[in-house]
Amino acid sequence: MAGKTAVVAVGGNALITDKSRTAVEYQWEAVRETSKHIVSMIQQGWNVVVTHGNGPQVGFILRRNELAAHEVHPTPLDMIGADTQGSIGYMLQQSIGNALRELGMEKDVATIVTQVVVDKDDPAFQNPVKGIGGFMDEAKAREFEAEGWVVAEDAGRGWRRMIASPKPLDIIEQKPIKTLVDHGVIVIAVGGGGIPVIRDERGNLTGARAVIDKDRASALLASRISADLLLISTAVEKVALNFNQPDQKWLDRMTLAEAKQYMAEGHFKPGSMLPKIEAVISFLEQGGPAALITDPPNIVRALNGETGTWITPQ
Ligand code: ADP
Ligand code: MG
Repeated sequence: MAGKTAVVAVGGNALITDKSRTAVEYQWEAVRETSKHIVSMIQQGWNVVVTHGNGPQVGFILRRNELAAHEVHPTPLDMIGADTQGSIGYMLQQSIGNALRELGMEKDVATIVTQVVVDKDDPAFQNPVKGIGGFMDEAKAREFEAEGWVVAEDAGRGWRRMIASPKPLDIIEQKPIKTLVDHGVIVIAVGGGGIPVIRDERGNLTGARAVIDKDRASALLASRISADLLLISTAVEKVALNFNQPDQKWLDRMTLAEAKQYMAEGHFKPGSMLPKIEAVISFLEQGGPAALITDPPNIVRALNGETGTWITPQ
């Protein structure tokens, strides 16, 4: 298949633009808007694998579980991951398919439910730091604790379940993803960072109670399929130094060495920009040729070198 391949990691704003507009109709609006921009790059000749987050969607399902617990069985976290890969994948694959058709382009689009291997001895399991689901009182939290969850009081806001975010090591469906891409199919994969799975001594997989960072998983996928570009689409047009400070400086480009230096200087906020920069660094260190960070409306302009923040080995 001619053309270069990009892994496009879309952020939360591709699905929910505004916390007061989370209903499904608004999610469709947001996905259709993002899909238009992704299709513009496909029109320019790119093969694309789309990855996405699922944080808010997992929160909604956990909340639904809590409210319905007296009547319906709860959903384990690995299945919630699979559910969100299916529902978000469905929205993306339909929207991208429609946008392609509008332009008269004949291309197939498919979502791959993706399992990502993590190490059961990953230190992250000893120190779960990511709060998920709703806030609750201590008594309720202790009930979850008895079921095996780690719970913690979160900065005076109430009790919450805490979850580990282990490092992604392997992508089980890597080969089918690559095969589809090589055949010109637009693929949606590693949704929500992938469903975390652990391998036992016999090589069999089971779901893990964890979540994987989608930027990390996207970088791993990009390396494994030898992508030409890791494109991280988020809520900002460019990356900044001194972000939100009076002396803020937007960056057009940085080298791998500069990215590491700025990271060490603390320019990138943990939980938002930092995991993206770490993902970019990991992709470039594994031999990836280039990475780009921008927002959906600027994807095509950024690919043409007019905006966004480009990160390259040299
Ligand atoms: P996503 O859902 O795309 O993962 P995040 O909110 O996790 O989005 O991360 C993107 C956000 O990171 C931006 O919207 C911005 O508010 C924040 N951010 C933190 N540090 C920086 C920085 N140095 N430059 C630009 N944005 C930054
Ligand atoms: Mg994020």
